[in-house]
Order: sequence, then C-alpha cells, then structure tokens
Amino acid sequence: MGIQMEPGSAVFFEGQYVPTEQAKISIMTHAFNYGTGLFEGIRGYYTKDEDNILVFRLKEHVDRLVRNCNVMCMDIPQSREEIENICIEVIRRSGFKEGVYIRPIVYKDELSLGPKLSGVHSSLCCYVIKLGDYCDISTGLDVAVTSWRRLSDNAIPSRVKSTGSYVNSALASSEAKDAGFDEAIFLREDGSVAEGSAMNLFIVMDGKLITSPVTADILVGITRNTILELAAKELGIEVVERPIARTELYVCDEVFFTGTGAQVAPVRSVDRRIVGQGEPGPIAKQLQSLYFDVVQGKVAKYRHWCTPVF
Ligand code: PMP
Repeated sequence: MGIQMEPGSAVFFEGQYVPTEQAKISIMTHAFNYGTGLFEGIRGYYTKDEDNILVFRLKEHVDRLVRNCNVMCMDIPQSREEIENICIEVIRRSGFKEGVYIRPIVYKDELSLGPKLSGVHSSLCCYVIKLGDYCDISTGLDVAVTSWRRLSDNAIPSRVKSTGSYVNSALASSEAKDAGFDEAIFLREDGSVAEGSAMNLFIVMDGKLITSPVTADILVGITRNTILELAAKELGIEVVERPIARTELYVCDEVFFTGTGAQVAPVRSVDRRIVGQGEPGPIAKQLQSLYFDVVQGKVAKYRHWCTPVF
C-alpha cells in the first residue's frame, strides 16, 4: 500500500509551502526519467515528557545531502541552514505529534532529454510522513545474502543516496522478501559483505564490533557513525572498520543492521543459519537501548544531536 498523505498537509515544493496534492511533477521530469534525484531520510522522535518532536542528527543528514550534490552536479539556492529550517517547518505545518520521517529531495527538475548531469537545473522539495518501526526490532530478523551485488561506487555511487540507486535495493529486498526472508544482505563484486538493502551491517566477534569500511560500496550511514561512536565512548567496546567475509556472518556471535528507518535491528539468522543464540545478542540489545535513549533526548551528552521542532 502506498503512503497515505494527509490531505492539505504542507510540503515544500518549487520554493514554497503548498498542500501535498499540489506538489506534482511532469512525466518529462529529468529525475523521473533518469533517477537523478538525491534524498535523505531523517527521523523525528516524539517525546511525551516534552510534548515535542526531536529531529535526530538533522545537521549531519543535511550535510550529507549537500556534499552529495557535488557528485551529482546539483546546484540549489538553499543553504544548509535553510534546508534544516525547511525540514523543521514541514513538520510544524503537518501538525503531527508522533514519530515522523522527513524526506528532503534534490532533483533534476528540467523537462529535458538526455542522461547528463551538468547544466541540468535542480530543485529542492521536502515532505514528511508519520513513521513507526520500519522493520521488527525486537525478536531478530531472518535474513539472506541476495544474489544481486551491491552497486559499485564507480558505477552508480553507493556513497550517494540517489533515487536511481534504489533499484539495486529494491531488487535485493524483493528477492529476499519473495523467498520468505525479512531482509537482504548485499555482497560486493569482490564477494565481501557490503550492507543491507537500506541499512548498514555490523557483526560482533569475540566482543569486538566490526563493520564494513566507508570504501566498501556502502552508504556511509549516520546511524552507523552514531553506533560506532556510542559503542566506543559509552560502552567501551572495541570497534573495527574492516572488510567482512560472507562466512563471518555464519560464525560470528551477533549480526545487526543500523539505519534511520531500521534503527538498530538485530538479526537472528542468515541464510537459515542461526546467529549466536538465535535471538537479539547482548551487544545489539545494549546499543539499541542506548540508541533509543539518545534519539529521545534523554542523554544530556548527546542532546545536541536532537533538534526540537517546537
Ligand atoms: N545503506 C543504505 C543503502 C540506506 O538506504 C540507508 C538508509 N539511509 C543506510 C545504509 C543507513 O543510513 P542512515 O543511517 O544514514 O539512515
């Protein structure tokens, strides 16, 4: 089922706030034809205690978006600060008082033919939806290595959250789900582990937390970076960024995914092989609980990661 937008709720489109139903693009739009859009997915957490929505790591998401614009030869008039304000304003105007997901998109908005980047005009739009858990995060996911390879950074840059690159994610995720699994794990062309379809991957081996390096055809996740920092600084866990072999997934003690949507999602089996005890492992559980405290603004030291909407 598609996303049910609230009729009349405001989105940012072509330089102004307009009702959702007015934000329409032409079938000739460059981004629609060639996948030349760039986006972010950002969560806002509702806190009852403060009766507020806290947007998690807004600055870092906007920073990634703006840096990625350079890869895609995109120029937009809005500054980082203005993009942050637009993200906040669409939430304010939505009237939501619950968990939200904010999606700013920079896209080639020209009605022109030809798969090129430079000289094609870009524009920014932004919308917000309500969002609870994107996948099960309590019992552990049953996942499978997909037969699709993660796209190479030298083909369609995996570092860049481009709309076109999500064909790769959709192929992997559909293959896994159609075969009865919850999620997919991508290998790279060289056979090492990259990440999930829309999430980064961690393994735990002998108490060490291991994740693929930023040069391993991954999207450098903001949740990934958050977990690396929290694990090292708050839990005193040794963290290692190094290539992961497929078979390490079968012999390690824990596997979990991280992402804005997935949050911290433990994995209980990979390719029908039980991981650890077949339930969320102790390190994943500790990190998950700390992560939820941090995103809800409960940890003073990391409060600067949370931007209040109201
Ligand atoms: N990898 C991919 C392919 C993704 O789509 C996402 C979700 N944005 C992630 C990793 C996780 O990134 P983040 O933690 O910044 O949401």
